[in-house]
Amino acid sequence: MNYKNPDEHGYYGEFGGAFIPEMLYPNVEELQKNYLEIIESEDFQAEYQDLLTNYVGRATPLYLAKNLSQKYNTRIYLKREDLNHTGAHKINNALGQVLLAKRLGKRRIIAETGAGQHGVATATACALLGLQCIVYMGEIDIQRQAPNVARMKMLGAEVVAATSGSKTLKDAVNEALRDWINNPVTTHYVIGSVVGPHPFPDLVARFQSIISKEIREQLKEKTGRENPDYVIACVGGGSNAAGTFYHFVEEKEVKIIAAEAGGLGVDSGKSAATTFLGTLGVLHGSKSLVMQTEDGQVIEPHSISAGLDYPGIGPFHAHLFKEKRAEFFSINDDEALKCAFELTRLEGIIPALESSHALAVLDKKKFNENDVVVICLSGRGDKDMETYLKNL
Ligand SMILES: *Cc1c(COP(=O)(O)O)cnc(C)c1O
Repeated sequence: MNYKNPDEHGYYGEFGGAFIPEMLYPNVEELQKNYLEIIESEDFQAEYQDLLTNYVGRATPLYLAKNLSQKYNTRIYLKREDLNHTGAHKINNALGQVLLAKRLGKRRIIAETGAGQHGVATATACALLGLQCIVYMGEIDIQRQAPNVARMKMLGAEVVAATSGSKTLKDAVNEALRDWINNPVTTHYVIGSVVGPHPFPDLVARFQSIISKEIREQLKEKTGRENPDYVIACVGGGSNAAGTFYHFVEEKEVKIIAAEAGGLGVDSGKSAATTFLGTLGVLHGSKSLVMQTEDGQVIEPHSISAGLDYPGIGPFHAHLFKEKRAEFFSINDDEALKCAFELTRLEGIIPALESSHALAVLDKKKFNENDVVVICLSGRGDKDMETYLKNL
């Protein structure tokens, strides 16, 4: 069984594909035809790898968290994606896609953003590589995330408010898709997670797979073996998790754990735990698990962390869930908060709220003393200080 590569139509088992309006066919087909050849070329890889090393600051450390390990009586390694330029894993994908867009002859980049992290990463890549950047963002999110809006503007991006619907992330996605339909020749749409029509889930997973490539090399150096006993990551759309799992999904001895946002609890009506609550449906161009009513209306998700506040999940993860290749935990807001404070006090690292959901798995599952447990620390907590202060 091959978990990590979709078939030629972009399917992971029954999930994936490309469900798009006819007007988008030319854009998506251009990508489908060209992405692999371009991103696997020597020329592309040389430029991309050089930027990852010298601009982003990779490889990120794989840090043996001794105090945390002692508390949970196991061996815990943190993959420090929080130390990347712009503070999270999202830059790995944004840089890769903007480089790809340049090679496709595009001059204009569009992106959607919820909390603003993907918008900042994309605006950063565009500033560096000299492309025009337009970021769609829900009107409400623009008000909630003022510091990131300021960053994007300083980086030279135009931030456009999505004023329809609930004025949040899914409305921003719709606006971005509309823009792409109207500007097919000049524009590339940088999707921020392993979601969207084929080839985006595969494209984004490949750019994020650097995370598990490095984990294997670093573990080999530190412990003598490439495979840990467990890898753990949080899942919003699923890009940091896809990157963390990528080089381990075909390694049977490695157990894979995904942490979803339970919000106020899976039964509370205020949750974002898609594998627990979702059913088969189509969202943003691919078939996957979606939180929806019986007649297919998307249900508004809730999570304390904006990055996990999404009513769907990438098809790669839906497949891992269905095949039971990964174990899914639902972590509530208060459990994530507790673990954010715990990591800060034990290790002197303030994690993003999203990443704290992955840390909270330590409370839910019993690990053995000799287990090697790798947790992806997807981002840093600067952006969440307001929430942390309120709960101090
Ligand atoms: C955006 C974000 C996430 C969630 O996105 P994925 O695509 O699921 O990785 C997780 N952690 C941080 C720090 C983020 O910024």
